[in-house]
Amino acid sequence: EKADIGLVGLGVMGSNLALNIAEKGYRVAVYNRTPDRTHEFYEDAGELKDRLIPCDTLEELANNIRAPRPIILMIKAGEPVDNETKALLPFLTHEDIVIDAGNANFHDTVRRLATMGPNDPTFMGMGVSGGEEGARHGPSIMVGGTQEAYDRIAPILNAIAAKYDGQPCVALLGPDGAGHFVKTIHNGIEYADMQMIAEIYGILRDGLGLSAPAIAGVFAKWNDGPLNSYLIEITAKVLNAVDPDTGKAVVDIILDSAGQKGTGRWAAIEAQMLGVPDTAIEAAVAARSLSALKKQRETAAKAYPGEAALSPQDRARFIDDLEQGLYAGKIAAYAQGFAVMAGASREHDWNLPLATIARIWRAGCIIRSQFLDVIADAFEQGNPDNLLLAPAFVERMTKASKPLRNVVSTAALAGLPTPALGAALSYFDSYRQARGTANLIQAQRDFFGAHGFQRLDREGDFHGPWSDVDFQA
Ligand code: NDP
Repeated sequence: EKADIGLVGLGVMGSNLALNIAEKGYRVAVYNRTPDRTHEFYEDAGELKDRLIPCDTLEELANNIRAPRPIILMIKAGEPVDNETKALLPFLTHEDIVIDAGNANFHDTVRRLATMGPNDPTFMGMGVSGGEEGARHGPSIMVGGTQEAYDRIAPILNAIAAKYDGQPCVALLGPDGAGHFVKTIHNGIEYADMQMIAEIYGILRDGLGLSAPAIAGVFAKWNDGPLNSYLIEITAKVLNAVDPDTGKAVVDIILDSAGQKGTGRWAAIEAQMLGVPDTAIEAAVAARSLSALKKQRETAAKAYPGEAALSPQDRARFIDDLEQGLYAGKIAAYAQGFAVMAGASREHDWNLPLATIARIWRAGCIIRSQFLDVIADAFEQGNPDNLLLAPAFVERMTKASKPLRNVVSTAALAGLPTPALGAALSYFDSYRQARGTANLIQAQRDFFGAHGFQRLDREGDFHGPWSDVDFQA
């Protein structure tokens, strides 16, 4: 009996996705560039072996899938996807579907789709989130492509996706690169979320002098409140872990230099290209880059020594403010991420369903939380220009912005960095400023470049009387 679907790439994500699909009752033909891996995977598959067909060549893979064939690529993003797709083409027809499920840059997805000829298979881009665990037991899946192709693979995707209240966390979000774009923004929000959590951790550690297990307790408690989320939950767990060799908290022996594979950076780049402010995401990307400057930071710490200790009058209350402040920062960061998606939707004519995106992020992915339920409702009820304008968030932000202000200002006075929380607060304050300060920027631009400006009191383009002014102090 032939397979229902094919899967190329049996690395961390691909092997778990294949097992997930097989477990749901589908037959899967699998292929990996290095054939040894294919056989190792097959031998380890236990009772799911019956539903797996290990293949050593792409031709064998294609021959073992029932036509019309859906084939998922779960391999290293970039050139490997171009190469494997090209290598598959001779064995496929225009009725087949090739689905790139890796972390592709959406521009690549759009390009790949455009290079497909009339006799080539349909190409789809699909973002998958949830890491190894998600791939195995239910990821959040963000799909881009045609409705027709989606309808054909939807039963399998519905079966393998994470469920929230019984609803599968998968949806067709738009054509061509829409799925990979949304995954990119998901990762950008993830960067911001993680960075703001790390900033709060820094205040608790360096400002209040709490130990890792004590901070774990704080996060564990917060996980029962409005901050309840996967990231807060794992933060508590991570902070509680003990290194068996030294008996120290694991976080205390980890080098403070963060890696990045580039998806957060892509989110910031796309936001900049669209002209949509996403300052918290940008700050989070920059914070990872700054974290990598370990040697320079050590030198600078000697050049600019200083005490970071805080002694708030009411410690318990300050910790409550940290909880509320983090919540406010999170609202601003998510508002930015969704605004970037709204901007891209307009730019590319994608008609991205923002409420649906929030809903399919409620389970399976790294930023999963109940908070996304509130976001989904906000978009469903009013389609606000920005989440900060949705009544549910006006109420929350009115309450939580004060604690955020206290957190950022207290940290600043103590010399504790809060790049993402600070960016979130400034974004909020700039956004709610009806009369901003760009009038001065316009005057400067007109002064040195005759760029012109508009007036508040008259229609038209104007220039200032700059040559007439002669300033003397
Ligand atoms: P792994 O490193 O575990 O596996 C990489 C896979 O890609 C292997 O099957 C490997 O084959 C194959 N591969 C690498 N280079 C080539 C090439 N030049 N030609 C053909 N095949 C190649 O990666 P992951 O499983 O973690 O990631 C796969 C994709 O999923 C990536 O795009 C990643 O960004 C994305 N992703 C990863 C997540 C994660 O948490 N890890 C989460 C969400 C998405 P071989 O065995 O022969 O080397």
